[in-house]
Amino acid sequence: MIDIASPLRLRLDSAALVRNWQWLASQSGAAACGAAIKADGYGLGAAQVMRHLAAAGCRDFFVATWAEAAAVMPLAGDVSLSVFHGVGEADMVAARTLPARPVLNSVEQVQRWRAAGEGRPCDVMVDTGMNRLGLRVEEALGGALDGLAIETLLSHLASADEDSNQNARQLAAFRVVRQAVPARRYSLANSAGICLGRDYGFDLTRPGLALYGGVPRREAAGHIRQTVFPEARVLQMRDVRGGEAVGYGAAWTAPADARVAIANMGYADGYLRCHAGSGGATWNGHALPLVGRVSMDMIAFDASAAAGLAEGEWLAIDYDLPSTAARSGLSQYELLTGLGKRFERAWL
Ligand SMILES: *Cc1c(COP(=O)(O)O)cnc(C)c1O
Repeated sequence: MIDIASPLRLRLDSAALVRNWQWLASQSGAAACGAAIKADGYGLGAAQVMRHLAAAGCRDFFVATWAEAAAVMPLAGDVSLSVFHGVGEADMVAARTLPARPVLNSVEQVQRWRAAGEGRPCDVMVDTGMNRLGLRVEEALGGALDGLAIETLLSHLASADEDSNQNARQLAAFRVVRQAVPARRYSLANSAGICLGRDYGFDLTRPGLALYGGVPRREAAGHIRQTVFPEARVLQMRDVRGGEAVGYGAAWTAPADARVAIANMGYADGYLRCHAGSGGATWNGHALPLVGRVSMDMIAFDASAAAGLAEGEWLAIDYDLPSTAARSGLSQYELLTGLGKRFERAWL
């Protein structure tokens, strides 16, 4: 096999990942702190995220689907894995075979799980006002869960990243369910929910975004470290004359003679066209503004100030999540999960 080096890579900072988890655990009070690793660990690689966090002491992991559960097997000894989307009819073989718990999301899923006669513990999601997944509160209180061996009873906050009174309403509804439905543990808070305070912690928290460098609320600013650092190689350096245009649609015209770096990354890698006008990179301490449109596999930077920059050098793409989200209009979640398969994932 020949080893083909990719011209674009994500530097992934495992120490930052672990520090972020430790900060979220400290903010979770008495609750254990788990980790949402769905969407392939928000794009970083679920198995690797799991390995680093399990080594740091994290014991509870969450994926969205059974295919994602299969992809992180085998589990380390005392690690627990839950599947948010529960069990559809087509999932029962995987659910019987894999050492993971479904998060049952409806009366139908509860019946399906009971009918399978497993008797193994499951998790249950109760909807406290988001109307996405989960049994209605009335259903949970009305006996639909009687006799079920529930490991973790969950609910999910719809507006935890905002100062919305929906948070307190969901908290109150969750407390009612907790009084009525026996489970070994109760879990409500995602990353933003952890920032709302200890009341939201219960027995287990489930951060995702903030593990990976996202700042879900102002309370986390200054505590969460950037974890994902995209880098792209310079494919070609060009001398552009003043008045000449660069790229599709001639969207940028050099105001004076300029040196432009063409880099190996584009919207097919998740670096979308909305970065035009505000994106940038750094090389050797020089700031390089993105110029012109984003192509499928290429972007251009004004490198006039970066003396010595040459073909083959690596550019560090500006990708601090809160500021990049603010200037691009993409959410921090989209910035992470959109990063494509062509990036080599290089853990530090
Ligand atoms: C994705 C998800 C989480 C993690 O949310 P973040 O906002 O990324 O911290 C927690 N719980 C559920 C049910 C989720 O779907």
